[in-house]
Amino acid sequence: MQKKCNFIDAFRVDLLSWYDKNHRSLPWRSQSAAHENPYHVWLSEIMLQQTTVPTVIPYFLKFIDLWPSVEDLAAADNDDVMREWAGLGYYARARNLHKCAKVVTEEYGGQFPQETEELKKLPGIGDYTSAAITSIAFDKPATVVDGNVDRIMARLFKIETPFPKGKTDVRRHAESLSAGRADRPSAYAQALMDLGSMVCIPKTPKCGVCPISQYCAAYKAGEVELYPKKAPKRQKPRRYAHIYIVTDTKGHVLLEKRPDKGLLGGMTGLPTHEWGETKDIAFAPPVEAEEGKWVRLNEKAYHVFTHFELEMTVYTMKIDDLLSISLNSNYIIENIDEADRIGLPTVFKKPYLLAKKTL
Ligand code: SF4
Repeated sequence: MQKKCNFIDAFRVDLLSWYDKNHRSLPWRSQSAAHENPYHVWLSEIMLQQTTVPTVIPYFLKFIDLWPSVEDLAAADNDDVMREWAGLGYYARARNLHKCAKVVTEEYGGQFPQETEELKKLPGIGDYTSAAITSIAFDKPATVVDGNVDRIMARLFKIETPFPKGKTDVRRHAESLSAGRADRPSAYAQALMDLGSMVCIPKTPKCGVCPISQYCAAYKAGEVELYPKKAPKRQKPRRYAHIYIVTDTKGHVLLEKRPDKGLLGGMTGLPTHEWGETKDIAFAPPVEAEEGKWVRLNEKAYHVFTHFELEMTVYTMKIDDLLSISLNSNYIIENIDEADRIGLPTVFKKPYLLAKKTL
């Protein structure tokens, strides 16, 4: 037991002293305050789910400029929040982000709770984000396990069970290194993240400059490239969609406000319909047209979601005046310049850009 404690102490000391000299400078990290800003930590952690740091930085800066505090975000119009989120993907995050800001403001007086169990009661906050906020924002012990920690633990302890099952072993090992440890929990959690993004990277990790190589079982065995072990990937199923792009001679384009619930819920997109599992989907445009007026583009657009790929057949039609026809209330007529500015979700941006070449 004594030996184990010594290993953990030494491991943490080496990792933390490397972090003190090499940590990344990120806009959500405080440079001077004793503690991080919980609003910034929460916002960045939600944005970073399934999304890279370089993609998140401009969105984070834009959000804190528009809404400098959680109360400001809570008071924002939901459509504005969804519009500013456009392009970051995984739109349920944006809906929950806004709901969470309201709950924190209305029920917690604008202060994020500090304990993981209390944080998990908030919309959009699960095991990972609650542990990240507790440790990073409030400097309290909590085990933070993200993709970086998965990879580091798999190599450090030579975890043989392929992922995703092997993640149970990751958590056990990660807890053994962090549970109850009050020596700089915030810095420790961020040190592992930085190590995973700068040194223990997915391909060709930089073991020669790694501060924890002396503890790393995979490195000592010369088998770094074998970890983490992964179960063979299953091919993603494909779904099919028709996308209808209607413009008029006055410079308008027809957009669609999607239902609040479901994939891309609440976002503004291009008119489409329920996506099918086979190519045999009905042609159901939002606007009636004379025979032959719809033009089908030869090139298709594609987008990859977490659980499926979408193949989009794009139809375009130009009419005289969109404002002169009656439309269901979910449709929005927008100036084309404005449509370019509002930032469609990426899945719609692809067919839109394809069609713009022909408009
Ligand atoms: S020695 Fe290499 S594989 Fe092991 S933790 Fe460091 S960078 Fe990762």
